[in-house]
Amino acid sequence: MRLSRSLIPTLKETPSEAQIASHRLMLRAGLVRQTSSGIYAWLPAGWKVLQNISRIVTEEQEAVGCQAMLMPTIQSADLWRQSGRYDAYGPEMLRITDRHQRELLYGPTNEEMLTDLVRQGVKSYRDLPQMLFHIQWKFRDEVRPRFGVMRGREFLMKDAYSFDLDYAGAVVSYRRQMLAYMRSFQRMGLKAIPMVADTGPIGGNLSHEFIVLAPTGESQVYFDAAFEKLDFGGDTYNAFSDADLERCYSDLTTHYAATDEKHDEAAWAKVADKREGRGIEVGHIFYFGTKYSDPMGLRVAAQGGGDLIPHMGSYGVGVSRLVGALIEAFHDEAGIIWPDSVAPFPAVIVNLKPGDAGCDELSEKAYAAFKGQALYDDREERAGAKFADADLMGHPWQIVIGPRGAKTGTVELKRRATGEKVEVSLEDALAKIAG
Ligand code: ATP
Ligand code: MG
Repeated sequence: MRLSRSLIPTLKETPSEAQIASHRLMLRAGLVRQTSSGIYAWLPAGWKVLQNISRIVTEEQEAVGCQAMLMPTIQSADLWRQSGRYDAYGPEMLRITDRHQRELLYGPTNEEMLTDLVRQGVKSYRDLPQMLFHIQWKFRDEVRPRFGVMRGREFLMKDAYSFDLDYAGAVVSYRRQMLAYMRSFQRMGLKAIPMVADTGPIGGNLSHEFIVLAPTGESQVYFDAAFEKLDFGGDTYNAFSDADLERCYSDLTTHYAATDEKHDEAAWAKVADKREGRGIEVGHIFYFGTKYSDPMGLRVAAQGGGDLIPHMGSYGVGVSRLVGALIEAFHDEAGIIWPDSVAPFPAVIVNLKPGDAGCDELSEKAYAAFKGQALYDDREERAGAKFADADLMGHPWQIVIGPRGAKTGTVELKRRATGEKVEVSLEDALAKIAG
């Protein structure tokens, strides 16, 4: 993208409405703009981050056998009457009436809809287990939308749903999702810790929240330093081995970790290496048995004859909230410091003197090498302003091209995270960025 032709409206001043770093930086770096209370437009650079997060989440869901699909945002009230949640859900639900006076709603979650789809398509025990997910916009009319995309009214969520023959099967699905979550967050560079949670309005009896550490988090958290050493990359755990899933679950749940609501001073006293801080909830998973399948009449033929009621779980990731959480975890005074895996652009090419034939030529050459995926700062601006914007936007690499270096094909390559700068040929810079 050429910056002179991009809708990336960076701001020098700190917007007064933003109380936390991520909200300030998302506005200042031109990632989003609020269009109504708690509702945001994702401008080109912000949308790229959202897509990168979605891609990682999708790959890790598919890697544990979860099928990608897409359900609509608008749902029928009748479906929610079948589960008994239509009246129970309260004012967070946006209720809509169409021209035929039919009652609709903008989905806050999709348990009912998928239970209905599975009810139509799955008839026998042979068709189970099933695990499906989509990444779709949700609407919840939050009392107090705040902190930008962290608590919006319209927000993007990955929600997965599992359908198993029995409790034992549901536990395997639950553990697979846990592993997929840990792998996803690790790929984004985040340390996330699962903590036992109340099952809340979704109901059931087994639930974990995934908490990312950041000073502005909504909850106080306490955990064992052992979590800092866990690694979910490579083939540490095989998602299709029950023994590995068991080991993974045990590694994640035997050490102490709790939010203040669940904090237990007696158990905490026994932890040798203590850590505490603030945390942001980026995911929440539940096992809830037959809470929806039973009232909605989901039945499948059982192996020995008769019917059985599938056991379900649901698994949410706050995809749009993660953009804020990532910035809370990765920023400094100058701006955002994107981890490579989610950065909107792998690099920015800073042309210090547009109009200078040498600078233009070398910059265009660098830009072409990225096939349109890098950001090319070709604006007629002071060098200082360009450097400030590059740091603010947080591109992992900066390729700085000035008249002196252009004569010999040399660029200055800066790593945003460390501030380290080297003078190298363009070819060497590209090789280093490609890793
Ligand atoms: P919270 O306690 O923060 O309201 P929740 O328990 O209502 O979250 P779930 O229904 O489990 O959340 O939704 C799954 C995930 O979606 C959450 O872990 C969170 O990351 C994200 N999420 C929930 N509500 C919002 C919101 N209003 N804005 C942005 N993300 C949200
Ligand atoms: Mg909520």
